[in-house]
Amino acid sequence: MVQVPEQTKSDVLLRTLTSVARNHGPATFSSSLSAEDMVVTDAILSAGLDIEIFTIDTGRLHADTIQLRDEIRRRYNYDVRVYTPDEDAVSNHVARHGPNAFYAAPELRRECCRIRKVEPLKRALSGKNAWITGLRRDSAASRVSVPLHEYDSNYAVLKFNPLAEWSEQDVWDYLHAHAVPYNRLYDQGYRSIGCAPCTRPSIPGEDPRAGRWWWEQTSAKECGLHVAPDGRLVRARESA
Ligand code: SF4
Repeated sequence: MVQVPEQTKSDVLLRTLTSVARNHGPATFSSSLSAEDMVVTDAILSAGLDIEIFTIDTGRLHADTIQLRDEIRRRYNYDVRVYTPDEDAVSNHVARHGPNAFYAAPELRRECCRIRKVEPLKRALSGKNAWITGLRRDSAASRVSVPLHEYDSNYAVLKFNPLAEWSEQDVWDYLHAHAVPYNRLYDQGYRSIGCAPCTRPSIPGEDPRAGRWWWEQTSAKECGLHVAPDGRLVRARESA
């Protein structure tokens, strides 16, 4: 009997991305330049798939995060598309509440994330049929039910989460096996990286996203990109 080789997670990832590019275009991949997102970036660019890659530069990112865009350009000869927040909205928010109002109250933190992340995301997804993310189930307690695909009624797109079943170890195994560049902050103890003033390194044993908005004890560690207006992680209905 002929042995059929078992499909690796990398094989499944490539098959999913290829299917999205062929059957659900125009497709776009939102990268925060995280370790997970570098896996998906490598898979898309190494296979030459017709999937746009974009990132949101909130204006408060670490220098190491911004530098990774240059490393992607050098490694893959590809310019990640950069979306930025509306300048007037940022100026008005800072004038009213100060530059670091996110420390003062969860509402002000969510408003900063809305201006600097969610609004640019809406522009980035406009006109797209498919949105690919690097969400993983075991990256946070709030993400344990992330599906492999869903219809996101918030943004009216098909949303694909091809790393939903990957572990943190799977991610690092892939990055090392393919010599993929990654954010050097991971070498300094960070496990989840967002804006500089809102991220600290993780303490051993913590939830991987505990270093995000660490001063907030009660709210989910989410910035609103994947959250419905009622506060739930978006999950409308499974789609093909
Ligand atoms: S992570 Fe912090 S600085 Fe970045 S958009 Fe959210 S509140 Fe603002």
